[in-house]
Amino acid sequence: MTKKSNFTHQSLLAQGTAIDSLHPDNDKQSLIPPVYNSTTFIRDEDNQYRSGRVYSRADNPTYRAPEALLANLEEAADARLFSSGMAAATSVFLALKPGDKIIAPTIMYWALRNWLKTFGQDMGLKVRFIDTHVADAVDAALQQEPARLVWLETPGNPLWTISDISAIAASCRQHGAMLAVDSTVATPLLTKPLTLGADIVMHSATKYLNGHSDVISGALACREDSAFWQRIVSLRAQNGCVPGPNDAAQLLRGMRTLFLRVRESCQSALWLAEQLQASSQVKAVLYPGLPGFEGHQIASQQMNGGFGGMLSIRLVGGSGQAIHTAAKTRLWKRATSLGGVESLIEHRASIEGDGSPVPDDLLRLSVGIESKEDLLTDLQQAFESFKK
Ligand code: PLP
Repeated sequence: MTKKSNFTHQSLLAQGTAIDSLHPDNDKQSLIPPVYNSTTFIRDEDNQYRSGRVYSRADNPTYRAPEALLANLEEAADARLFSSGMAAATSVFLALKPGDKIIAPTIMYWALRNWLKTFGQDMGLKVRFIDTHVADAVDAALQQEPARLVWLETPGNPLWTISDISAIAASCRQHGAMLAVDSTVATPLLTKPLTLGADIVMHSATKYLNGHSDVISGALACREDSAFWQRIVSLRAQNGCVPGPNDAAQLLRGMRTLFLRVRESCQSALWLAEQLQASSQVKAVLYPGLPGFEGHQIASQQMNGGFGGMLSIRLVGGSGQAIHTAAKTRLWKRATSLGGVESLIEHRASIEGDGSPVPDDLLRLSVGIESKEDLLTDLQQAFESFKK
């Protein structure tokens, strides 16, 4: 279990846990925690494992610093790293039992939706996809039929739909369901789902937490230790879905600048959303920070300090213009993923394929830390080249 700290999250992040009680076991006084590449740990002479470490498929001391930091940021009882965001998310579902009922959003990370529709259903999970961003939809669904787990993703990728965590947590409590939230896009700086009543929060640490597009990793954190949480921890150890120690150390390095990166991305994303709304080439801008956006009111309550670095635009020239624009930008890089310091642009319908709820005139924009004016100019020149 993690210890709480009296320092602000900004200070904790900057120091990367090298203060107070968060400092990992380090008798050399090094500022930066050491990396433990060992796959195995030595038994005591009397056959005990007093260090608590046995084998790195289950756990590694290098995880301790990033896990403690994340637990502090999320105000969690405990946090664990995983080998990817998908490994973290699917560990929650694998800890359920055949026949368990789940409610999941219609708008969510497409690969996880596909996993639920295939492997999840094959293992006997009964999944209902509903519009969790519509007020009272989850409550109505739970009244109709109880569920063991409600999964939310807010903002929901890539339409950035906002689900009301507090209201849904209250319904879950009333109906005896657990609530888990994929908070990858909000980051622990903008939203703290556990403080709003969620039981588990999940991150693709590949995105903002690491922030440099060079580590694949995931994380889960829990509001309270529970039998279900211990089942997830045990599953991680037995399935071995853990990151390499060097990746965990690199993740910690990335987390130390989370405040700066997220602040910059949020400011630029809001400015770009406002500017793009005025463009004759743009049919719609999807961004929770815009007052006209459907979920803006709830986002204003549950997101603090910004509305995130992700937005989507729909183009007047349809899918042709969307694909052309992504092809012609130079600063925005044409690649999947999000949350890095470099700005990315993607035609989501192309990657999500059949059954995707994403319109084919939509481009997803992950706003990095480049100059916002340069990012706008780059998009405008790409729009213009389609008209000619
Ligand atoms: N959740 C969201 C919102 C994501 O965007 C992603 C990846 O794009 C994931 C989960 C999966 O994370 P990973 O790619 O680290 O497995």
